[in-house]
Amino acid sequence: MIFDSHAHYNDSKFEDRDTLLSSLFADGVGAIVNASVSVVDSKRTLELCEAHPNMFAAVGIHPSDIDKVGRLDSAVSEIEALAAHPKAVAVGEIGLDYYWEPYDKDKQKAFFISQLELARKINMPVVIHDRESHGDVDEIIRAFPDVKILLHSYSGSAEWARELTKAGRYISFSGVVTFKNARKAVEAAEVVPIDKLLIETDCPYLAPTPLRGSVNHSGNLLYTAGRLAEIKGISLEDMLSITFENACKFYNIDKSMLTDISGKEIL
Ligand SMILES: [Zn+2]
Repeated sequence: MIFDSHAHYNDSKFEDRDTLLSSLFADGVGAIVNASVSVVDSKRTLELCEAHPNMFAAVGIHPSDIDKVGRLDSAVSEIEALAAHPKAVAVGEIGLDYYWEPYDKDKQKAFFISQLELARKINMPVVIHDRESHGDVDEIIRAFPDVKILLHSYSGSAEWARELTKAGRYISFSGVVTFKNARKAVEAAEVVPIDKLLIETDCPYLAPTPLRGSVNHSGNLLYTAGRLAEIKGISLEDMLSITFENACKFYNIDKSMLTDISGKEIL
């Protein structure tokens, strides 16, 4: 069974998302967490999760979307209200992005910290987006040792991955780990303890090799899991079941509550 720990099925590239999701859930995908980037997107994610029993929501405001929301305090209270929905399992994706210009570092940090404080208050795990901002992300999350944190589509160094996982953080790899030039991601994957490892598509983006450039979906995680299994020297079946368990543990999802996943074979 596949657990896609980070996807964006609200994206307009998914023209018939409900049909696609139904076929994925009928065909080896056990659970998906859909990450949101704004208040509006979080609402749409929750609607999608209401339609698909094994789909769960991360609700939050992405650093590149903070200009589309209003005042920080009112936006974060809206996220707090949405996080009370029974299908909401995490705050995310939140963080810092110093890649897409122009960006306002101070404003990004304010939204990031305020949503971390929300997660601590409501006792929810957090999914972090970190692009070209490792140093500041590291500094900020150090103030939240008690919050359960996942670094999604990890792009930092092996050394930082070692420190993060020692501090109890989780790390998720996307299709990037299958790319030919993925040396950095592969080195990081090598040092992440198996009980802190998750897999994700970040779809529709980051389709793994050999599907690079196509519209990605959760079924393609077989390639990502296959590459990680190779790196870790375990079987694909073990990689899928270990990352499934890890994701359930991270998101506090009771596996027995998932609908109709027992006895389904994908390999
Ligand atoms: Zn994402």
